Amino acid sequence: MQYQSFLIKYAEIGTKGKNRYMFEDALMHQIREHLKRVDGEFAVLKEQGRIYVNAKSDYDFDETVEALKKVFGITAICPMMQIEKCDYETLRKKVLEFVKAEHPEAEFSFKVKARRADKHYPVTSDTINEDVGYDVLTAYPGSHVDVHDPDFIIYIEVRHNINVFTRVIPGAGGMPIGTNGKAMLLLSGGIDSPVAGYMIAKRGVMIEAVYFHAPPYTSERAKQKVVDLARIVASYSGVIKLHVVNFTDIQLYIYEQCPHDELTIIMRRYMMRIAERLAEANDCIGLITGESIGQVASQTMFSLRTTDEVCGLPVYRPVIGFDKQEIVDLAEKIGTFETSIEPYEDCCTIFVAKHPVTKPNLKVIERSEKKLSEKIDELVETAISTEEVIWCS
Ligand code: ATP
Ligand code: MG
Repeated sequence: MQYQSFLIKYAEIGTKGKNRYMFEDALMHQIREHLKRVDGEFAVLKEQGRIYVNAKSDYDFDETVEALKKVFGITAICPMMQIEKCDYETLRKKVLEFVKAEHPEAEFSFKVKARRADKHYPVTSDTINEDVGYDVLTAYPGSHVDVHDPDFIIYIEVRHNINVFTRVIPGAGGMPIGTNGKAMLLLSGGIDSPVAGYMIAKRGVMIEAVYFHAPPYTSERAKQKVVDLARIVASYSGVIKLHVVNFTDIQLYIYEQCPHDELTIIMRRYMMRIAERLAEANDCIGLITGESIGQVASQTMFSLRTTDEVCGLPVYRPVIGFDKQEIVDLAEKIGTFETSIEPYEDCCTIFVAKHPVTKPNLKVIERSEKKLSEKIDELVETAISTEEVIWCS
């Protein structure tokens, strides 16, 4: 069956008054953006506090639902029949036809849930529930009513028009992108940072990303993997401006000048410093990383504190309390896992010390960094000014 419309459900918590309009407008904008990827024409409109997607041409149902499932802010997608207000007998007939088209199976349990928002309609919700229930039971001898745990619910909403639907497809949840500022994601080719980006984007935050590339120690293929990951995250968050920063000279210089057990931590401090510079130049008001407490030496509480020390912007670490398996589960769900496990080297793994410090002392680290004073500022400026920008969508 080709549905003409979809009812888009969204949570209204915290979306009262002026915020509600902002939320709805952002959501409608995001829906339109996501539907651009689908072959078909759609109108997205708001009517009496509800959002609808109406098909204006033929379209592929699965592709359309897949696109809508990636829009943050949507709690459910209901493919529906929308009919103009009509007399009651016609309504009953149309509902039964719709149920037959959607549910060819002979046996099922169901329940009818009518809602009469338009109190001028001459029949009450209870009467609609009873009559439509009767119609379905008569048409399907193998069906029965189950008010507690039915196989499906026949929703009939009498509003300006009448909406009828039985399928409620869960959406991504969260808040629409564009309702909560922009943040800079430190995106590596690993499992954790794409998940972290997804989680923050889900709260309505626009995402930019920075990747520290170390050619020739890291290959073009490793960079391509990061671009691929950014594209997957962008399929939810919308286009991502990816900053590729050449980190090789900075890494080599740290390697030459500093104790090797402090390499990772010092390197991470420079990543954060550069990420923050790029963030500020691009109107981002926070940084995002995929760090999780204790996962590796550079992610102990001591190390995180030492890295945070160089950041003026807040650093968001949404997977901070997750076990690896929990991050992996989410990576699988959002579709980044397969790409993340491709075996291309990461700059951190190449310059990693055998026994990195797990309890870095801030004073000691700062003293080691003094050894970089001759050239580091210039190297940082060069790294920033020679960045490559890749738009990922
Ligand atoms: P991930 O799976 O996200 O790579 P990880 O467990 O490998 O994380 P680390 O390598 O210690 O952890 O990196 C911690 C965080 O630092 C990453 O989640 C990411 O946000 C950032 N990061 C690490 N390497 C890079 C890089 N080359 N470019 C950009 N960000 C990076
Ligand atoms: Mg990594």
